[in-house]
Amino acid sequence: MDFEQFFRDRLGDLRAEGRYRVFADLERQAGRFPRARWRERPDAEAREITVWCSNDYLGLGQHPAILRAMQDALLHYGAGAGGTRNISGTTHEHVLLERALADWHGKEAALLFTSGFISNEATLGTLARQLPNAIVYSDAQNHASMIAGIRHSRVEYHIFRHNDAGHLRELLASHDPARPKIVAFESVYSMDGDIAPIAEICDVAEEFGALTYLDEVHAVGMYGKQGAGIAERDGLSHRLTIIEGTMGKAFGLMGGYIAGSAAMVDFIRSFAPGFIFTTALPPVLVAGARASLEILRGASDLRRQHQARAQQLRQSLLAAGLPVMLSESHIVPVRVGNPVACKAISDRLLRQHDIYVQPINYPTVPRGTERLRFTPSPDHDDRMISTATEALRACWREHALPLAS
Ligand SMILES: *Cc1c(COP(=O)(O)O)cnc(C)c1O
Repeated sequence: MDFEQFFRDRLGDLRAEGRYRVFADLERQAGRFPRARWRERPDAEAREITVWCSNDYLGLGQHPAILRAMQDALLHYGAGAGGTRNISGTTHEHVLLERALADWHGKEAALLFTSGFISNEATLGTLARQLPNAIVYSDAQNHASMIAGIRHSRVEYHIFRHNDAGHLRELLASHDPARPKIVAFESVYSMDGDIAPIAEICDVAEEFGALTYLDEVHAVGMYGKQGAGIAERDGLSHRLTIIEGTMGKAFGLMGGYIAGSAAMVDFIRSFAPGFIFTTALPPVLVAGARASLEILRGASDLRRQHQARAQQLRQSLLAAGLPVMLSESHIVPVRVGNPVACKAISDRLLRQHDIYVQPINYPTVPRGTERLRFTPSPDHDDRMISTATEALRACWREHALPLAS
């Protein structure tokens, strides 16, 4: 087989469909977020742009206290963890962070993973494989990492309609009551910005004795009095068997975790290959996450500013007649509905308006719902919002896309 030709052909297909991914070469500058430098080519001169699609939702990636904690940790512990968690890679920082995360979510224990993706894949995969004859129920819009864990376990699984507790109930009722059941869903869905009916889903799961697994990746740090997520905000943390989060988004760093009962966490720690057979997070990162968590717990003002900025951007785009999609959260998606136009507008915004917002195309979102997904932070100011609105409006005119009346 001509492997090179195969690779080129498949990439050509992606390009033809307008969904070939191009990474923007960015130079983040601590202290200047959401401004950054961008290079069109590696050797091109860098230009100042505004980033509108970062998952560093609160701008904590440049917080001085976090940077200081990481600098101190680097000099104190050195560069890496030095091993897997089991073989010399567990540092005191890991132990302290797991304790703090458990406490934050009102759970007995927590377990760190190298990313949110791995925490989902490893935990769901291990539960599904190990629970005898299990069935998994997965929300139709669940993240690829949960789907990977469920699929790789090769167990029977069923997809319930997005945020539809009634459909979930029908499915649960139609299967053998004796088989162990897992219900996996998210709180804030990151592409539409809508929020799951957690209480209703827990009601249904409890009725059928199912284990509940909630991905709070797009909510930790941003919702709830202490920022522990939508489950905290709605007083539901105790009803979820497992809460999963990331340190890659509002924390401003990297890494993932689960929180739950001591026995469950010990079980995953002992049986999940994706936890066991990989080098532990570097202590520098863990120390940064501890500092970040400390800040997030007391960041009510920052959370209010964040929501206010999201509301302000939404109002500004709506007032300009742009097709802002309904969202109940800090995420502001603008529908383009066509992958080629979506990519072209994103390119134009970057090249002509110094605005960076990545096009979101299939398979991340369904075909026909291609969009630009804005994630305003507390650091996006009035001027950035008005500039982005005008630029977007100009792009809509140039591409002859419909505006609301
Ligand atoms: C980003 C994301 C993850 C993965 O988290 P990482 O820490 O980036 O690996 C998991 N679930 C959802 C819903 C996400 O959006």
